[in-house]
Amino acid sequence: MGNGFDFSVERLAGTGVPGGKAPASESGGYTGNIQETDVRVGHYKRSPQDGGVNAPLQNGIGAGTFYLETFGCQMNDHDSEKVAGVLLARGYKQVERTDEASVILYNTCSIREKAAQKVFSRLGEYRTTRKEGQVIGVLGCVAQQEGEDIFERAPWVSLVCGSASYRKLPELLAQLEAGEKRITGLELDTDETFETEITRRDNPWRAYLTIIEGCDKACSYCVVPYTRGPERSRASASVLEEVRQLADMGYTEVQLLGQTVNSYEDPSARRIRFSELLVAVAEVVGIRRVRFTTSHPRDFGKDIVEAIETVPGICEHVHLPVQSGSTNVLRAMARTYTRGEYLEKIALLHGSKRPISITTDLIVGFPGETEKDFEETLSLLDTVQYDGAFSFKYSPRPNTPSLKMDDAIPEKEKSRRLAILMEKQREIQRARNERLVGETVEVLVEGKSKRENQWSGHTSSNKVMNFTSPEQKLLGHYVQVRVTGASPNSLIGEHTKV
Ligand code: SAM
Ligand code: SF4
Repeated sequence: MGNGFDFSVERLAGTGVPGGKAPASESGGYTGNIQETDVRVGHYKRSPQDGGVNAPLQNGIGAGTFYLETFGCQMNDHDSEKVAGVLLARGYKQVERTDEASVILYNTCSIREKAAQKVFSRLGEYRTTRKEGQVIGVLGCVAQQEGEDIFERAPWVSLVCGSASYRKLPELLAQLEAGEKRITGLELDTDETFETEITRRDNPWRAYLTIIEGCDKACSYCVVPYTRGPERSRASASVLEEVRQLADMGYTEVQLLGQTVNSYEDPSARRIRFSELLVAVAEVVGIRRVRFTTSHPRDFGKDIVEAIETVPGICEHVHLPVQSGSTNVLRAMARTYTRGEYLEKIALLHGSKRPISITTDLIVGFPGETEKDFEETLSLLDTVQYDGAFSFKYSPRPNTPSLKMDDAIPEKEKSRRLAILMEKQREIQRARNERLVGETVEVLVEGKSKRENQWSGHTSSNKVMNFTSPEQKLLGHYVQVRVTGASPNSLIGEHTKV
């Protein structure tokens, strides 16, 4: 990733880049500070407690070894952490190179066409290079979406498994070892969530924790309800137990995950609300920061803002995807709210006694989006003043209602709108970040630069801070940093002893 910052501890997977990257791909781009990396390869140092099968090498391949690469969102990242945990618990060892692995797994994303294409081009590399005995497996959204068709397109693949079936992975792999040629795990009707005894976490300070899986919303452009199945929430006691374990392990920051995290419904008799869960997690001894993503506007209420206002441990940041500023487009997207209703939620955030940074997702070029609709999205940016935004060109996806909608917007026009949108958002961010110059903020230190005295981390508002400090041991510590400079995507500062 080349920003010069290093983590000092071993990790399972991940870029190790605080703040992730700011991609501006053909399909979309990012003008903010949230982590949404495209591809992550497991590349951690093995430790003795990993266990593993000490079998002799065959063709340079260690038996009982796996290589795992992840595409897509934080949910996928965390699923991969759990998949790795499941395999490590069964004695597999994780390796860093495909040519060393007996099992090669791709945890895939199909949210946009480009993401799905990337997976097939990666699989294509094995047409000629696959070694005798190697298992190539496709996990995640592409697996769920394409199912057994993957065997047709890439006959060297022998495992296809969607996220609702990951628990069964060791059994599926055992069947392949026993001589089965092809195996699938594609059931979506599970009402279980994917909980594991061991999760190999990739970030030494921020622990991800899924509290709700799947999605019951039916946005007309989105594959998630088809690839991840219906919403299933995890019992609050189980969530809190895992948070306590994480605190015991030394984690101070947890991030609660769900496609619509705030649609959480405690399935246990306690029936605690999402905002109450946030407070309960923040109260766990040792936990200093609680984040959550992604919130759906329909289920976002005053109680969440009040929780942030009153509990300092709940981070002052909300990711609230709007998708479009036009009520007409929102209706066609089946987003279940109008522009006005979305702005009511924003008013709650703007009215908070504690400043709350707001980030979003935006889609341009949805079928039928007129120039006027697009201008309404631009004017929404002015009104809301987002601290960051992921912006995407609309990508038609299989099985989704919007696939059949008329008035497709030409690619060139989508690109034009995307460029205008991103440029506008950049300027908003620049101005917002510049306003912070002179303030002192708390930073969790996550990276050390090769350059002397240079460190990086995140503020509670999830902004990336690059700062100087003469101290030698800051990783994992919370420090006070005075903001001395700003750019659209990050802050610059100096460690203060305040
Ligand atoms: N559940 C979250 C929500 O409702 O906001 C979003 C989950 S989705 C993995 C992340 C983002 O991808 C969406 O917010 C949307 O902006 C974008 N996205 C989803 N489907 C898309 C499509 N067909 N074309 C372009 N962008 C898409
Ligand atoms: Fe997709 Fe909509 Fe569900 Fe988000 S809320 S995952 S965009 S269907």
